[in-house]
Amino acid sequence: MFISKCIKYYLKRLAKFYCIISIGLLIIAGFIYIKYKPLYKVTLNGEVIGYVESKEKMQEKIEAFANNLEGNVTSITIEEMPKYELELVSDVKESETKEDVVLATVKEQAEVICKVYAIKLDGTEKAIVNSREEAEQVVSDIKSGVNSEINVNLEIEEEEKNKKEIDNNQTTMEVAKLNINKDVQFQVQEYERKQAESRAAENRRKQQEEKQKAAQASSKKGASAPATSSGMFMRPVTNAIITSKYGQRSSGFHTGTDFATATGTPIYASAAGTVIYSGTKGSYGKLVIIDHGNGYKTYYAHCSALYVSVGQSVSKGENIAAVGTTGNSTGPHVHFEIRYNGNTLNPQNYV
Ligand SMILES: [Zn+2]
Repeated sequence: MFISKCIKYYLKRLAKFYCIISIGLLIIAGFIYIKYKPLYKVTLNGEVIGYVESKEKMQEKIEAFANNLEGNVTSITIEEMPKYELELVSDVKESETKEDVVLATVKEQAEVICKVYAIKLDGTEKAIVNSREEAEQVVSDIKSGVNSEINVNLEIEEEEKNKKEIDNNQTTMEVAKLNINKDVQFQVQEYERKQAESRAAENRRKQQEEKQKAAQASSKKGASAPATSSGMFMRPVTNAIITSKYGQRSSGFHTGTDFATATGTPIYASAAGTVIYSGTKGSYGKLVIIDHGNGYKTYYAHCSALYVSVGQSVSKGENIAAVGTTGNSTGPHVHFEIRYNGNTLNPQNYV
């Protein structure tokens, strides 16, 4: 009896003791649950780069990044994949737990190689585009806008480049076109400058020849050489724009210089002389021709009104007609010609 009483007593105490212990443990567990969070510590190359709740979700995100890269990706090298370690973590800042932070770090160290198409001008890379079709389109668009006599050296090269490098340099077709065209236009200007120079040189040579011929002819006749000194001729209009120069153009040889200005603007005699024509003449429209002697004549075409008549002497600068657009003309201008012994000269060498 006594022994069984004792056992009962001890069992009761033991039960009480366990009860207290388990309550205590529950309190501790509750405390841990509130204060600490089970998170995966993510390390990359030995460095902690953040904490995530799910290892699987994180890996899925990394795979999605690799699978959804834009452009012609040829290879992705992620030297080391992150390592995960489950930890009870306290005081984790909100930002450190974000998967995006971890993903950004993984992206940063990933080496993505893409296939791109570089457009080169004279061997120097000028633009990078996504496909060969785009590159070809850019090149043909640029070439079609340039005089075919100019040899624009544009090449397309397939290249493999690091995506980081591409992201800073790759452009749309439109931007590529604009950028390359800037450089091409320099070449065009250079070409045109050289053309103009050689034309001017050719004109000077011809002029020199004409002078020599004239001098020879006149010395034979015993007359004085024709006056070709600068200042003999003046421009037939003031404040006009030259819209077409003397010389070869696509529609044929242009025998004079076109000075464009408003209809009705006075046209002045380029030099003193005698009017030998004043009327309408084919594609010239309303035309005045003045003979200055010594083989020189000037033509004033497309006039709207004529103020002089044949046989009349005019002085240099006298108002002889008004600007118009008669005859073969696309807008108000005076087509001005200087002729020597019937051959046209480049008026811009004289006025
Ligand atoms: Zn003309």
